[in-house]
Amino acid sequence: MFNFFKQVGDYAKEAVQAGRYIGQGLSVTFDHMRRRPVTVQYPYEKLIPSERFRGRIHFEFDKCISCEVCVRVCPINLPVVDWEFDKASKKKKLKHYSIDFGVCIFCGNCVEFCPTNCLSFTEEYELCVYDRHELNLDNVAMGRLPYKVTQDPMVTPLRELVYLPKGVMNPHGVSPSERRAGLFPSEILEQAVKDSENSSEA
Ligand code: SF4
Ligand code: SF4
Repeated sequence: MFNFFKQVGDYAKEAVQAGRYIGQGLSVTFDHMRRRPVTVQYPYEKLIPSERFRGRIHFEFDKCISCEVCVRVCPINLPVVDWEFDKASKKKKLKHYSIDFGVCIFCGNCVEFCPTNCLSFTEEYELCVYDRHELNLDNVAMGRLPYKVTQDPMVTPLRELVYLPKGVMNPHGVSPSERRAGLFPSEILEQAVKDSENSSEA
């Protein structure tokens, strides 16, 4: 008989313990339900890279003087500058230029030291391919103008930190209904149009 009561007592204790664990788990779930989502619904939403973001490098063929400074300052001698000597003008003439972005570490040395500023970082970060050799971009591919998330009508651009209420750095405690401090790009555009109308009227 004593054993029976002991078993019932143990069972009741375990049931209470299990109830506590379930309650703890659900409290975390309910806590998260009140929070603003911090995830980006890629590819329908994309973060706007910062102004100094180091994405795919843009190359301007006509500005390049084939000096090969970019090769010398690159820690892995990555840029390939293919030139020939033009006897008529007595100058180097660029034939091909390429950088393998599968190997590039985006250190920025080539962009920094190029004497003619023909290299510049873009905000393109979607460098996904099935074959790594496809990341070896030539002067034509590198000359393509950068893709901008703010100009794609299929994408909602987000700059999450800017949209948080003033003074708040952690988005976890912010309720979804709370007004963000920053403006969406569409709101910035509306504001700019209003400002220009006001200044032309004045
Ligand atoms: S960013 Fe750096 S690693 Fe990439 S090509 Fe330029 S110098 Fe080389
Ligand atoms: S440093 Fe600039 S100008 Fe010189 S080869 Fe490289 S890209 Fe061309």
